[in-house]
Amino acid sequence: MATAPAVSNEVEVKYTKCLIDGEWVDAVGGRTFETINPSTGDVIAHVSEGDEPDVDKAVKAARRAFEAGPWTRMTATQRGRLMFKLADLIEDNAEELARLETLDNGKTYQDSLKIDVPLTVACYRYYAGWADKIQGKTIPINGPYFCYTRHEPVGVCGQIIPWNFPMLMQSWKWGPALAAGNTVVLKPAEQTPLTALYISQLAMEAGYPPGVINVIPGMGPTAGGAIAKHMDIDKVAFTGSTDVGHLIMEAAGKSNLKRVSLELGGKSPNVVFADANLDEAVEGAFFALFFNQGQCCCAGSRLFVEEKIHDEFVGKLVEKARHRRVGDPFDSQTEQGPQVSREQFDRVMGYINSGKEQGAPMLCGGGRVGDRGFFIEPTVFDDVRDDMTIAQEEIFGPVMSVMKFQNTDEVIDRANRTAYGLAAAVWTKDIEKAMRIANGVRAGTVWVNCYDVFDAAAPFGGFKKSGIGRELSEYALEHYTEVKTVTVKL
Ligand code: NAP
Ligand code: MG
Repeated sequence: MATAPAVSNEVEVKYTKCLIDGEWVDAVGGRTFETINPSTGDVIAHVSEGDEPDVDKAVKAARRAFEAGPWTRMTATQRGRLMFKLADLIEDNAEELARLETLDNGKTYQDSLKIDVPLTVACYRYYAGWADKIQGKTIPINGPYFCYTRHEPVGVCGQIIPWNFPMLMQSWKWGPALAAGNTVVLKPAEQTPLTALYISQLAMEAGYPPGVINVIPGMGPTAGGAIAKHMDIDKVAFTGSTDVGHLIMEAAGKSNLKRVSLELGGKSPNVVFADANLDEAVEGAFFALFFNQGQCCCAGSRLFVEEKIHDEFVGKLVEKARHRRVGDPFDSQTEQGPQVSREQFDRVMGYINSGKEQGAPMLCGGGRVGDRGFFIEPTVFDDVRDDMTIAQEEIFGPVMSVMKFQNTDEVIDRANRTAYGLAAAVWTKDIEKAMRIANGVRAGTVWVNCYDVFDAAAPFGGFKKSGIGRELSEYALEHYTEVKTVTVKL
């Protein structure tokens, strides 16, 4: 294991309560939960455990802020300016936020600082720019009428986010919601509440009026469940597992038919043709799976390699996996930190066992690293069959499944044979092959000769069981606005 932190992991945890109506408050029930440092298993802090009564208080505050008070009188330009200010404050506090994210989540400090923080800032700036550009149309209907549409905010938005990119997922939710003039009640993941709380404080310093943003840390089934079924929440946005996605939709259906957008799991095919630039494809395929400890919804977790180059390709992958530096995420040499929690560690180890039991050859890895924290060796399975559990279910860990293929039709057919449809990629110099994959694969995002290229301006979301709706870009605004048609007799 790598040792000797190059960056201090000292960071004071300042915000651990619920944020309701502009105030930091204890949970009504007085309970707290522990948030854990996944590098050591030690407790970082005790955080207020919100539940139904806290969500209810937050919704009432969000409703008041939506219907009365300074937020309703603010111009679109002023809403944009507040968000630019928030982005600036995040940038000013980048190092502290990156330390907090790494401490709570386990991702490397280098990634927190150079990927998560800048993407978060960029997302807020992108939507700050949208605030005064959300506009309707004038429509030439028949008769002596003037008809136009207004794109109005939906109202109070409940937002439930996961632990793999905590501050970034908060920005994907808050950016479009607040730019469009909604108010929000957000529940961060129990594993990683700390940066969401810190950024909420920055939002108050930026000048968001009380009640516009509310944050209730807590457990999924209780605090999250209360959001999904609340009768006065107009819209719920959820990112996480497909199983919980079903529950959110069901709760919305059984309560007030709140609008639902879901960004769920994936089992994304990554297709490498023999004519690809081999070294770039190896780099890309490796990154596609191992980035963020394998904890990405769009991880390229089904790696289809054309048979002709299979042996050479896999040889290079395994070489890289064996040399990956796993250890202290604050050490600047470290490439892979721990999995986020004991639960995720056990789950991933369970998938490794299932791969072995079902007879996939394990070429490297498979074990724990060290004797504390939740570190797992980069693991590569070869000759994985499409029907094996590791080829069908989302592993969310550093476990790669390599499969061989022979031709384009075959690989498109196999790529589409899961319930998911979040992302896909293809590596080839042949534009025709690239376009056949891009058109033939049923997925919300297709990368050609690249992977994990994210930009706030490009939509992201899933086909099939990978979700409903798109996040980021202009498309996300559709979920945060209602279209009102106004017809005036002339
Ligand atoms: P999860 O349960 O779906 O968690 C995501 C969020 O939903 C968290 O804030 C969670 O709260 C909340 N939640 C859980 N149960 C809920 C319920 N009944 N009602 C409302 N909200 C609820 O995911 P997980 O258990 O942390 O991870 C399990 C698997 O999900 C992973 O192995 C991975 O396959 C997948 N996952 C996907 C993504 C993604 O980006 N698409 C992200 C994370 C996980 P608590 O954390 O407080 O329980
Ligand atoms: Mg934690």
